[in-house]
Amino acid sequence: MLLFKKVNDLQNHISKSTNTSNSFGFVPTMGALHEGHLSLVKQSKEETTFTVCSIFVNPTQFNESTDLEKYPRTPGKDLALLSEVGCDIVFIPPVEEVYPPNVELKNDFDFGELEKPMEGMFRPGHFTGVAQVVKRLLDIVQPTKLYMGQKDFQQFAVIQNMLEQMNSSIENVMCPIIREADGLAMSSRNVRLTKENRQDAPQIFQTLKEAKKNMHALFPQEIKKIALEKLNTIPGFKSEYFEIVHGKTLQPIEVLEDVKYAVACVAVWAGNVRLIDNIILKGSAK
Ligand code: AMP
Repeated sequence: MLLFKKVNDLQNHISKSTNTSNSFGFVPTMGALHEGHLSLVKQSKEETTFTVCSIFVNPTQFNESTDLEKYPRTPGKDLALLSEVGCDIVFIPPVEEVYPPNVELKNDFDFGELEKPMEGMFRPGHFTGVAQVVKRLLDIVQPTKLYMGQKDFQQFAVIQNMLEQMNSSIENVMCPIIREADGLAMSSRNVRLTKENRQDAPQIFQTLKEAKKNMHALFPQEIKKIALEKLNTIPGFKSEYFEIVHGKTLQPIEVLEDVKYAVACVAVWAGNVRLIDNIILKGSAK
């Protein structure tokens, strides 16, 4: 496994390793890696000739400075894990390599309604920051395939839209959510949960599964009400949203039978840790 910190060194190496016939995968992460991240690397390895993983805690996508400061950083462990799964290249740039003072980063994407609900509503500016860093990293790495998790469902939809606006040929691959044995979606933030909140956190996925079970019997509005009530009865938990939306447009759905692709998305504060999760009710990204 090779490690690069500088854009030039990475690009020199990639240009020597690629030719027009091979495909290579890219997995952008913010580190503090767990099995969820590693599943993206493994899928990329299965489907491409070689895989680049980046570790960069992007300051421009955090709307709360405390969240940025408290974001877990475990670079030594991350490298060991990536090496274990056979990642070919790791890119760990310092901030000035991603945002050099002399390079103007064009970032005027308009995601319209896609960035308004859910994460967009509760984390203003978040997707502008995400699009900025993913665009910059894609320009640097120039992969053929981009691997992203379903865990950040809205992020996937926004980046897919960005690729379409760019007329990009990069294929955006959605990888399934990897969960702990008790159902909690793996997240770098989980280590910050208190013991009690960690014990209760699997109820988030249970609520999503219940929503899926009820999808033919109840209207989305009714499912949403039940879910929010349940989440808000968990001690120390406070829901931000529970939405049933179209998988591509992310607009709320009134009648599930009217659409082919639907997903239930949730964001909850467990103490001072913000958790997100989702479940696909019908259809798929393809
Ligand atoms: P992050 O480091 O949180 O920015 O995540 C990097 C990538 O890993 C994103 O595409 C996430 O959607 C994905 N990811 C994070 N957690 C999981 C998980 N539990 N299962 C699958 N993918 C995940």
